[in-house]
Order: sequence, then C-alpha cells, then structure tokens
Amino acid sequence: MTSGERERYSRQILFQAIGEHGQERLLKSHAAIVGCGALGSLQATALARAGVGRLSIIDRDYVDATNLQRQFLFEESDAVEGLPKAIAAERHLSRGNSTIDIRGIVADLDSSSAEELLAGADLILDGTDNFETRYLINDFAVSQDVPWIYGAAVGSYGIAMPVVPGRTACFRCVYPEPPSGAQPTCDTSGVLNAITSAIASLQLADALKILAGRVDCVVPRITTVDVWSGVIRQIDQPARDADCPACGRRDFVHLKGNARAPVSLCGRNAVQIHASAHPVDLAELKARLDALGEVRANEFALRFLRPPFELTVFSDGRAIVKGTTDIGVARSLYAQYIGN
Ligand SMILES: [Zn+2]
Repeated sequence: MTSGERERYSRQILFQAIGEHGQERLLKSHAAIVGCGALGSLQATALARAGVGRLSIIDRDYVDATNLQRQFLFEESDAVEGLPKAIAAERHLSRGNSTIDIRGIVADLDSSSAEELLAGADLILDGTDNFETRYLINDFAVSQDVPWIYGAAVGSYGIAMPVVPGRTACFRCVYPEPPSGAQPTCDTSGVLNAITSAIASLQLADALKILAGRVDCVVPRITTVDVWSGVIRQIDQPARDADCPACGRRDFVHLKGNARAPVSLCGRNAVQIHASAHPVDLAELKARLDALGEVRANEFALRFLRPPFELTVFSDGRAIVKGTTDIGVARSLYAQYIGN
C-alpha cells in the first residue's frame, strides 16, 4: 500500500477488524454489482470509496427522471441525456475515487452472458429487481464458489441475506421457487429511499467483511427491515438443503437457460426486447429513423419517440419499449423500426 492509500483509507484501517491487512485485501479485490438502481447506486458508491480495487457495474437500463428520488449516483443531466446507468455510474464514481478500476457494463445479465460478465469477481452484490436474475446469480455463485449478497426493497420494507457457498445455505435452499402471483413492485407500491439505503448498507457490511478477508464475521441470517414501522427482524438462515437443486445436486438450470423472451419491466410500463445477437449501428439507425420521428442518440444508446411509444435501443441490439406492457406490441414496434 502506498502512503497516499494509507492516508486515504486511514479511518477504515483504524477499524480493527479491517486494519491494514484488510485494506490491502480490499484494494486487490473485484466486486461485481448486478443492477445499478437504488441498491446498486449505494453499493457502488460505498465500495468505490472504500477502495475496492476493481468494480464491474452491470446494468441494462438508462436513467430516467423517476430514478432520481432514490438512485443517489445519478443526476438530472443523466436523465435528460438518457444515459445508460452503467455509463453514468462509471463517470460519477471515478470522480469519487480515480485510483481504482471501475467498469460500467451496459448489458442484460442472462444465462448466455453471466459467465463472461461475472468472471473473476470475488463477490457479487444483488442490485436487481427480479427473482429470475437472482436465481441466475445464485447458480453462477454456487457453481464458481463466489459469495453473493441478496437484497430487495419495496415500499418501506426490505430484506437482505448473505450467501457464502460452502458456509451458508444458498438462495434456492431458502427460496426453492419464485413467489407465485403478482408481487408488489416499486412501480405499483412505490419505494422510499430510506429503505433502499438501509438494505444496501446491510449488504455492504457483509461485502466489506468478505472482501477484507473476514468472511468468518458473516452471520448466516435473514434480516428484514421496515423503516416506516421501525420494525427490524432477524432470523437464522435455514440449514443447507442437501437436496437443493443448486448447492445440493449442483444442477444449475438457470445457467443453462436459452435466450430470453421479451419481458415486461417491473412497474415501468415498458417491455424489454432482448438482443437478437445482432449489434446495431446506432449512427446508421439514427439516419434511418430521423425522417420518421424525433431521434436522440449518444454513443451508447438511441431514443426514438413515436408517441405514445418511446424506443430506446442499445448498441448490442437490445431495446426497451416504453408506453406499453404488451409484449406483442413491443415486438412489432421493434420489428417495424429496428428490424429483426
Ligand atoms: Zn442451496
């Protein structure tokens, strides 16, 4: 460690459970943050400032005005520009710590991309908003022996739980199947920034323990918090299930999945069309669409306004169609304006 680093991180080094040895471990570690919304914003900011040597921030979405209330990394100008969250995050984080390696990755984590996007991570932080991606993270983490930390929040309520393969139960031991029926989402029930901050902080504390080499301090339990009622509950994690498909039978079905179908995005009145494996030349697409409606483009994404719809296209061919939750409508707009 340099003398500059020793000074910069001195208040963390003074904390005895981390110390200089722990700080050195942090500086050499690599954390992947999946989803850079409210949880991911806070996780990324804190880990960058704590001196985690390498951060990969994976997010599929772009910044809009409704994010600003709780996604502390982003600014009004990011929403006006429609910047991908991963790009905006990389820019802002490097101003808080220019001495570490920060990579914003504009991509949708799915079974075909997980191994490449998460390769080399010492820890994965859950900043996603859906069970499908969490099962995928869990399969990857258990198969590669990488710890990850589950977190979720809606309304004033949230939950956090560490998963350390070989030491604790895994996510599928605790939740063998996704919850059935309609679940409350941030779009239908709202969400307070007090709860996203609280849950991200619980995740961060375990992240620091693991990356600083103090995994022995991670307690296998499930914490739930309601910041409105002030009720905090902790229960011990259940024991590992010997018959768990993931950590017991090591049958990683979520890693084997096929290319994903279009999906409605949680509470966004929007549908995501997954990349068709054909990268798109955004400049060429802009030239083609200019005659048909308002087009705004930067080097990362193109936005095409076709009221009442709005299509945002990323260079990997993926698109988010806003203004509908109907997958058929979204698919046909994609075919009509972007191609197949
Ligand atoms: Zn398990």
